[in-house]
This record gives sequence, structure tokens and C-alpha cells, in this order.
Amino acid sequence: MNEQTKVASTPGLKNLTITVTYDNNPCEQRLETEWGFAAFITRTDSQPRFAAGVAGAWKNILFDTGGGRLLLENMEKLAIEPNSVDVVVLSHIHPDHTGGLAGFLEKNLNVTVYLPKSFPKKFKDNVRDHGAGIIEVEESMQICENVYSTGLLGRLIQEQSLIIRTDKGLVVIIGCAHPGIVNIINTVKDLMEDDIFLVMGGFHLEWASKGRIEKIISIFKQLGVFHVGPCHCSGHKARSLFEKHFGSNYINIGAGKVITLADL
Ligand SMILES: [Zn+2]
Ligand SMILES: [Zn+2]
Repeated sequence: MNEQTKVASTPGLKNLTITVTYDNNPCEQRLETEWGFAAFITRTDSQPRFAAGVAGAWKNILFDTGGGRLLLENMEKLAIEPNSVDVVVLSHIHPDHTGGLAGFLEKNLNVTVYLPKSFPKKFKDNVRDHGAGIIEVEESMQICENVYSTGLLGRLIQEQSLIIRTDKGLVVIIGCAHPGIVNIINTVKDLMEDDIFLVMGGFHLEWASKGRIEKIISIFKQLGVFHVGPCHCSGHKARSLFEKHFGSNYINIGAGKVITLADL
């Protein structure tokens, strides 16, 4: 998408709920933590999941699948039915994001998996053998009503992030930020007209210096990012620096965290 085709036609979502179903940071005490990330994204208003005859209508999304069976255990504790997921989006190939997929597909085959086109054939065949649908993502594309993929970024490790249009601005959900957190945010700015309301997920700053993290925080501020929720591979140092600079607009994210748009 170029300047002329920036997306901003329909009104954004009003009621969105993001539940972090897998993260290495603790949050909800009943849930165990393991290295990885997954989040369940749903709209919590009266709209049906599939508005009859409406192209691109809302679909419930599982973004990444964590590292293994713990995903299903956590979903059960959070009362999220695997069957309520319509679409699985995999950010990148690493097992801490894709490891829970096979177990999940045993519970729900009736999903479409949006995965990077560069995934190995064996991985794609495996998903197809389970009976699930596959969409191979390369360029930025729409996934359902008000939800888009950034398209693949990065060379060595190709990764896609999720963009959700809400009435408060854009919500960006990132798996591991291998292509660079600033690169991802700049790409979102290029693709979409709306302001960025929330950026959450793995920022990949575990080994970054304080100076580099503070530079990234100042770029976030310049770009008008309003809320931040760094988790997974963001690292303790980055999490506390983001908290210091964003104050009450910092969201402490870990396994079991529920983010309701209307409450922010
Ligand atoms: Zn990774
Ligand atoms: Zn990761």
C-alpha cells in the first residue's frame, strides 16, 4: 500500500479485548509462564462473528501460539474455547511462537492460518495435513474487518505484525520484533492513516543498552505512540524504562493479562 491507498475508510472497532494467553512474564497467578508469546483477540460488542454476506467481517484471532501445550492449558484456565478462534496468525517461524500450533489444531481444525510465505514447505504441509486452511502472507494485507498484517519485514527472520483499527487509534501487536521495533512502527505509520494507540508484544530489547532503549522510547514519543505494553522478549531493562517514560500509559503485560480497549 502506498500513500494513495492508506487505509482509513470505515470506522474502527469500538470494543476490543486482547487476552495474553502465553507469555514468559507472570501476570495472572493461575497461569504458568514459559518463554514465548500468544494472544487471543476478540471484539466484545453485539456484532456477530460472521455478519452474513459482509466481506471481511470480524473474525476471532489467535496471534502466535506460544511454545507448546501450555497454550491450551492457559486457554482453558482463561475460559477461551479453542473453537472460538477463527484465524491463527503466526508472526514468525521460531518455536516459541509456533510450538503450540499442532496441539491447537487438534482441538480446532476449522481455522485459517496466516503464515509468512517464507515458512518451510514441511511446516505448511503439516498445517494442511491437519485440515486447516493456509494464507501465505508476503505483502501487507487485510485479515478481517479492521485487522491487517504489516506484511513480511526483515531478511534473515521474516516476521509479520498485526494492526487493528479501533475508534481510539491503531493497536499493533508484535511477536518478537526481529525486523526491529522502530522499523515495524514506521511501517505501520506508512500503511495506515490513524494514530497509534497501543503497541504491545515482544520488542526484542533483552540485550539492548540503556541508551539504545531510551532512543527507541523517544522515537515512540515522536511518532505519537500513546500506550505501550512490552512483554515477551522485551527484557526487564526495557520494560522498566518504558514504564518510567510512559507512566500510567504503560501496560504491564504477562500471561493472562486482559486488555479491554474501553478501559484504556
Ligand atoms: Zn523469534
Ligand atoms: Zn520470541
